[in-house]
Amino acid sequence: MICLGIESTAHTFGAGIVTDSGKILANIKDIYVPKKGGIHPREAAEHHTQACGTVLQDALTTAKIKLSDINLVTFSQGPGLPPCLRIGAVFARTLGLRLGIPIIGVNHCVAHIEIGNLTTGLSDPVTLYVSGGNTQVIAFTEGRYRIFGETLDNGIGNILDQFARAAGLPHPGGPKIEQLAQKGSYIILPYVVKGMDLSFGGILSEAVRKFVAGEKIENICYSLQENCFAMLTEVVERAVAHTDKTEVLLTGGVAANKRLQEMLRIMCAERGVKFAVVPAEFAGDNGAMIAWTGLLAYKAGQRQTIANTQIRPKWRTDEVDVAWKV
Ligand code: AMP
Ligand code: MG
Repeated sequence: MICLGIESTAHTFGAGIVTDSGKILANIKDIYVPKKGGIHPREAAEHHTQACGTVLQDALTTAKIKLSDINLVTFSQGPGLPPCLRIGAVFARTLGLRLGIPIIGVNHCVAHIEIGNLTTGLSDPVTLYVSGGNTQVIAFTEGRYRIFGETLDNGIGNILDQFARAAGLPHPGGPKIEQLAQKGSYIILPYVVKGMDLSFGGILSEAVRKFVAGEKIENICYSLQENCFAMLTEVVERAVAHTDKTEVLLTGGVAANKRLQEMLRIMCAERGVKFAVVPAEFAGDNGAMIAWTGLLAYKAGQRQTIANTQIRPKWRTDEVDVAWKV
């Protein structure tokens, strides 16, 4: 069985082609980059409309298959930006109807976990999912991926990008901040863990305030990373302790950060649990993760009618019945 997965929740339009044995035949993406400021949902949707035909064609060429070889079409049904989600949903419905094949709507956050399991060989990890818009600590218990901790305001990636913007650094800010942090030393910034949840807004305000007051940018970048990543590591460690899981998975765009990887690696070594980072190509938003998760659901017996493919912009990770894991 060959599955096409369509991703369009935010900045990325992606098409992935995966077989039911988990072989990834293609994973093509085209990423919208705002000219200035953050993502403008309507502009991003316009980008996806322009990109979708070429991305699909590239994916078919890379996979060396024809459109008619596809047996299942899947798409990111949520969570995400409504105008962006709609493009992917319409595209997937059109293909499903045209080819007369089944369609499955996939939860984007669950897909990040499942592609992580597929590409790292972990099977039941505590997952730290850190991207632009999302920051969640997730683990599977009693039929669902439960959220053990999450940000109470912005995703960590957005916070890094917002600081970068305020400091005149290029977008996306994460990689540039990581680079500057290597030459910095510690200054005091807020550290905000509330039970198992996190809040980054106050840290961002204080970092911007210190920048405006003339503090060295290297020191702010270093301390921003130290505090935010230590907060994340603390919550992941507590989730591991509570769930007795023996694996930790790091995924999402921010997973590229070497300092975050290092903190988690040290914590996991001390606790004697396995640690893995999703390969960069599959850590950010992509179509292969949607195809693979849709396949898991389909093989577990999930079926969906076109009428049930409305987008779900606020669809939470813990609302998904994970039939393929029970
Ligand atoms: P995603 O939303 O999963 O595509 O991830 C995008 C986010 O990852 C952006 O906010 C980037 O700033 C962030 N990011 C990418 N590379 C790094 C890095 N090396 N360190 C920290 N954040 C990063
Ligand atoms: Mg994502």
